Amino acid sequence: MSDDQLIIFDTTLRDGEQSPGASMTRDEKVRIAKALERMRVDVIEAGFPVASPGDFEAVQAVAAAVTDSTVCGLARALDKDIDRAGEALKPAASSRIHTFIATSPIHMKMKLRMEPDQVVEQAVQAVRRARRFTDNVEFSPEDAGRSEIDFLCRVIEAVIDAGATTVNIPDTVGYNLPHQFGELIRTLIERVPNSDKAVFSVHCHNDLGLAVGNSLSAVLNGARQVECTINGLGERAGNAALEEVVMTVQTRQDIFSCRTGLDTTQIVPCSRLVSGITGFAVQPNKAIVGVNAFAHESGIHQDGVLKSRETYEIMRAQDVGWSANRIVLGKHSGRNAFRTRLNDLGIEFETEEDLNNAFSRFKDLADKKHEIFDEDLQSLVTESGLEAGNEWLKGCLLQGDRGTGQQPYRVATLFRKQHHQRDGFPGRGDGASAAGRPHRQRPGGRYGYRDRFRQGLCERAQQDHQARGTGASPARGRIGPMRESR
Ligand SMILES: [Zn+2]
Repeated sequence: MSDDQLIIFDTTLRDGEQSPGASMTRDEKVRIAKALERMRVDVIEAGFPVASPGDFEAVQAVAAAVTDSTVCGLARALDKDIDRAGEALKPAASSRIHTFIATSPIHMKMKLRMEPDQVVEQAVQAVRRARRFTDNVEFSPEDAGRSEIDFLCRVIEAVIDAGATTVNIPDTVGYNLPHQFGELIRTLIERVPNSDKAVFSVHCHNDLGLAVGNSLSAVLNGARQVECTINGLGERAGNAALEEVVMTVQTRQDIFSCRTGLDTTQIVPCSRLVSGITGFAVQPNKAIVGVNAFAHESGIHQDGVLKSRETYEIMRAQDVGWSANRIVLGKHSGRNAFRTRLNDLGIEFETEEDLNNAFSRFKDLADKKHEIFDEDLQSLVTESGLEAGNEWLKGCLLQGDRGTGQQPYRVATLFRKQHHQRDGFPGRGDGASAAGRPHRQRPGGRYGYRDRFRQGLCERAQQDHQARGTGASPARGRIGPMRESR
């Protein structure tokens, strides 16, 4: 690997899925993995195979579906975990096992109940065992941010000797500050004698809103892999957001001496896919992927003062994929075009009947809405799964699209299905409003969505979900132009 390449390691499917309420099915994980592969993410952490049979199958399915990215499975430093990961990754064209053990005094004493010497020994054994399955092995000293530096150096030197090719330093609890964390990475690289034999990586959490700042500080101090997630999804306050890390490095090439190999035009489509599948809305003012992230454009246009784009823009909306959100199909599109486009999105129909059902919904929609976007198609397929009796109905909330001058629109919100829930409702009408409105609700009522429109439907939707515990109203709204509120 050349020194100026920054490896992007996406853990949306593993750490991201650990966000409460963000669990994904195997097929959904494969769809996201395909989108990440299209974006040319270097490494996709697909799951934690030993955690459950479902996780195992998901990692296996991703390993089989992805060819251009390395597929990674997580494993504690235990034989059974590593063997399970190795097994799940068998179909992969390129695989990596990521094993970890805690190295901070508090974790070693309270959680592992192990002496430091034992921890070193177990880490080394784990790396050696992982090397039986693949020569691409990553090791993480968990809670490194609170570990003692001498001990950390000792563990890292030992695992590199044992064959670890990537050493990942996690700030597991999101406690570090950027200058501190950068210093830590620099110190480790300087002090560990064999540090040149491994890539140093970081994994930062956002408990203080510093995940991206800490990651970038580490990169400036020699880290050459960043672990991150789409939309910053992840445990608690989340992980470093992939889109922010990647676009900062790209935009500030005057500062960074490395670059990523990503196709950044896939960022927005990927963000929307993840948001649609998990039901986690992207806040409107979120950097890069929020609907307002490039909204200043319209103001400039209105005033007619667009003399120089660079005056107000440090990035171009189309470079991160806002323009990729193009019209893909219309009412005259045929079944083949429909199927082909969905295949491109990583969606395949198991039966002709599924295809036909989705296609007929597409025709209904195309009658009402002239411009059909990729997100609309994904929503149709989600509905298709719904009618086939899948046990999950997923949130499919996507924001309007004011940044690009296209007509804003949204997609229906879907919730987890609850079979015995009596007040589930079918969304009606051709506005996405139908998606969020409980069936007893009147406009302007407690959950009046119009009032909350700009806060995003999801906020309301999540309230519903929580208010009803396990049984949120399944939403099956259709898609239509959104009404601009004032
Ligand atoms: Zn994490």
